[in-house]
Amino acid sequence: MPGYAAYVDSLTDGWGREIKSVRVSVTDKCNFRCRYCMPAEGLEWLGRDELLTFEELTRLVGVLAGMGVEEVRLTGGEPLARRDLPALVSMLSPLPGVTDLSLTTNGVLLDRFAGPLVEAGLRRLNVSLDSLSHVRFAEITRRDALDRVLAGLAEAERYPELGPIKVNCVAIRGFTEEEVPALAELARRKPYVVRFIEFMPLDADERWDADDVLTGGEIRALIEERWPLVEIPAKASSTARRFRFADGAGEIGFVNPVSEPFCASCDRIRLTADGQLRTCLFSRREWDLKTPLRQGATDTELAELIRWAVRHKELKHKINDAGFVRASRSMSQIGG
Ligand code: SAM
Repeated sequence: MPGYAAYVDSLTDGWGREIKSVRVSVTDKCNFRCRYCMPAEGLEWLGRDELLTFEELTRLVGVLAGMGVEEVRLTGGEPLARRDLPALVSMLSPLPGVTDLSLTTNGVLLDRFAGPLVEAGLRRLNVSLDSLSHVRFAEITRRDALDRVLAGLAEAERYPELGPIKVNCVAIRGFTEEEVPALAELARRKPYVVRFIEFMPLDADERWDADDVLTGGEIRALIEERWPLVEIPAKASSTARRFRFADGAGEIGFVNPVSEPFCASCDRIRLTADGQLRTCLFSRREWDLKTPLRQGATDTELAELIRWAVRHKELKHKINDAGFVRASRSMSQIGG
């Protein structure tokens, strides 16, 4: 693949952080309507022509990989709602420089797709799951689909290539406390790393309130009432603090963007399904890559645009600052 190794200078932002990771949204559509993310109805979908094609996505990821980006995570919307996602995985997995190709999914279609995804080269999987109670699962996702998600996880578990599977749970005060024992128990009983993620102001309904954030520290205390935890080292760029159960039974993680922001070590950028580069989840500004791509820009020109955008990466999110202004789009439109 000529050209991909051409941009040997690392991709570094204006604050000296090296960019190693991209989250690629493949669709803004989702088959769930999680309350902390999407409205019950009324979100307008992107038109088919607005979505980047698999070829366009592969080209952009190839350019990024040539600039030192190693980790590629496919997301959405619900990425498995995009037709034939394994075909995209098979186009991305052989790209030189892409050492870590992963998927974030709600798991509802995973029983059908786990095998084809592994065959196409997927090597890491995050499944979102907020409750193990049928009633409460339906309450939070507005879909009665817990059994299908569990079936998806069971199918994924058959592929050691995907292990350890991460199970992500958004923690909301007044809801998640009750879920914690069963989710912690899941991490002990299954080969899943269960991670609690603090609720962020990215919900389309704009109902987020600081008081709704159940912090990782609080959840850790709840777990430790029963099972002591021991912190284990995490990669410097990791979003999660990692803990093992003291008795060795499994692993738990806490992603604490609100109570313990990790912007200083952020090495991520995001590409929306309509080809806009975002340098922060909370960006108010996007950098259009789709138009130049479709107007015939060369790889070198695209790389220059990306480098320029990354130079302007935000120093930090301002969730905890007075006068915080929400991101220009909500989570499902950005790609979580
Ligand atoms: N549909 C896929 C899924 O469910 O994992 C991928 C997209 S989803 C937007 C990615 C992740 O963002 C999920 O783990 C979801 O729970 C999380 N998420 C959505 N809205 C959030 C919010 N307001 N705060 C924190 N996490 C959120």
